[in-house]
Amino acid sequence: MQFERIPRVTRLLDPRKNYAETRIESEMRMDPLTNFSGRIAHFGSGQWPTVDLDALNQASLAHGCPFCPEMITKVTPKFPEEITPQGRFRRGEATVFPNLSPYDAHSAVTVVTQAHLVPVDQFSAQQWEDALAVSIDYFRAVRQYENHIGYGLIGANYMPMAGASLLHPHMQIYATDRPGNWLKGQIEASQRYYDEHGHTFWEDLIQEEKSLQERYLAATGSVEWVVPFVPLSFIGDVEAIFPERYTILDLTPEDIAGFVQGLLHILRFMKDTNIYSFNLAFYPGQSREDRIWVHARVSFRGMISPVLHSPDVSVIRQLLDEPFTTVYPEDMAKQLKPYFASR
Ligand SMILES: [Zn+2]
Repeated sequence: MQFERIPRVTRLLDPRKNYAETRIESEMRMDPLTNFSGRIAHFGSGQWPTVDLDALNQASLAHGCPFCPEMITKVTPKFPEEITPQGRFRRGEATVFPNLSPYDAHSAVTVVTQAHLVPVDQFSAQQWEDALAVSIDYFRAVRQYENHIGYGLIGANYMPMAGASLLHPHMQIYATDRPGNWLKGQIEASQRYYDEHGHTFWEDLIQEEKSLQERYLAATGSVEWVVPFVPLSFIGDVEAIFPERYTILDLTPEDIAGFVQGLLHILRFMKDTNIYSFNLAFYPGQSREDRIWVHARVSFRGMISPVLHSPDVSVIRQLLDEPFTTVYPEDMAKQLKPYFASR
């Protein structure tokens, strides 16, 4: 397995140092599975500005919220009888209903909590466990009806900086035969790897990261955590790998509990470092033949310039499809690791 780094040095006359010659390092990296590239550059201070959550909360409630408990049963759609005669799926505080703006034929929203605003460190394990379990209940119902689900995709935009149009914690879930470019690339590469090596990339990755101890974080129950060698976020990503789980329907309650335990560690890290926002995606196969172990990424989001509301996605990401990250993944792992050591 290759972790390929291509270091670069820029020489310039630096106005901040009276035009003395200065060398600035950056790095290109190739993903060990897909060979997709990313850059580590524009190193930030690691200090992220405070966001006024009260102001966001006020603004978000100006026109009411369809996901709040008093509205959710009145304004959100219901599933047709053949998906569930109850109209919506529920577990604890979580509710699943059809997405009014669907991504595919079977497309739904999971509302995670009853509370409208939940700061990152105030989620309970039960809230996320119920939200993920009830999402899988929905995929089971789709399979019952269609005999298959294809790829059961779960994604979340937490807070506006991650693309959420509503503050109320929720996820997008959909069943599709088209996994999208990123997951398709991972599956094709995983299949190639399996054909060449006779075993799964994901197993080798965990072994390699454990022996390197540069980006490996910990196991929470059955779930293994690493900081990816090539992050997609400008701050950093954290990856959970579910050993020997191939489809979203393979995930057991214990797997979900292990995942949520790690997620809560990450959320506490976010609170302590003023990171308010993240995307979450699960990457499942549609069968064992995809040779991919289910994994999930938490990708930190924020603004390049909060004063100007500049998002963290600019031309290099949007039009050249090149991720760049301002923190070395190995440094991110050092920062995260203590959180995974605590309970
Ligand atoms: Zn709400």
